[in-house]
Amino acid sequence: MDRFSDRVILITGGGSGLGRATAVRLATEGAKLALVDVSEQGLAESAAAVTEAAPQAEVITVVADVSEETDVEAYVAATLERFGRIDGFFNNAGIEGRQNLTEDFTVSEFDRVHGINLRGVFLGLEKVLKVMREQGSGRVVNTASVGGIRGVGNQSGYAAAKHGVVGLTRNSAVEYGQYGISINAIAPGAIWTPMVENSMRQLDPENPEGAAEQFIQVNPTKRYGRAPEIASVVAFLLSDDASYVNAAVVPIDGGQSAKY
Ligand code: NAD
Repeated sequence: MDRFSDRVILITGGGSGLGRATAVRLATEGAKLALVDVSEQGLAESAAAVTEAAPQAEVITVVADVSEETDVEAYVAATLERFGRIDGFFNNAGIEGRQNLTEDFTVSEFDRVHGINLRGVFLGLEKVLKVMREQGSGRVVNTASVGGIRGVGNQSGYAAAKHGVVGLTRNSAVEYGQYGISINAIAPGAIWTPMVENSMRQLDPENPEGAAEQFIQVNPTKRYGRAPEIASVVAFLLSDDASYVNAAVVPIDGGQSAKY
């Protein structure tokens, strides 16, 4: 059964990690895709991965910075121009930012992380929800984090922005349920993507492999999540299988956020 036949799905951060894995997953279930990223090369690699997994899939790529309003308008316009509608929106682009104690974090880094991780998510919601409301249907998944529901440490900008994403999700979900639109968030734990690899280099530049090994020992599963394990949950939330799921924040973390 192709849950996404003729469904148009827009994915930000589509050039790597969770965005790419979700694009591949949805394409194999029949979706038409618009992939957005700042990285042109990442987008090209994602489009190639999609085509390899699902040769018939229709996919466009748009280079855009989600923190810039005109870029957001442009990626929405490009999607509508090609496909005429937006059925699902994976509002996912994000950065980790530099790790530091709050007193050393710096306001410029705080603003940079917020620009992408919170302002970017808001701008995407603002522009896409207008389209979905006119359609009378749509499903949105915002990418929060375990850092959006728990303190992590050394990540003031990231944790504040991701808590903000949870707030935006609940607020918009309450507003838009009446229009046939669902808005949920995912809260991934440690998923092995380029972002987490980079994080381990920040934790221990001399021995990132050792840092990675130690970091995951607190997880009940003793392993990192894999991007396709996020993609399958996002696919569920963007599908009709999740028709009565709204305003949920779904941890995908091997149980880590439940641990004392
Ligand atoms: P990733 O670095 O592999 O992918 C992120 C993508 O976002 C990259 O392709 C990057 O170029 C793009 N991007 C960055 N800034 C952008 C901008 N201004 N405009 C457009 N695109 C931009 O990381 P990932 O692990 O796939 O992360 C995806 C999302 O998942 C992020 O929001 C991240 O915070 C969140 N997340 C990841 C983890 C994890 O463990 N990997 C855990 C919790 C949350």
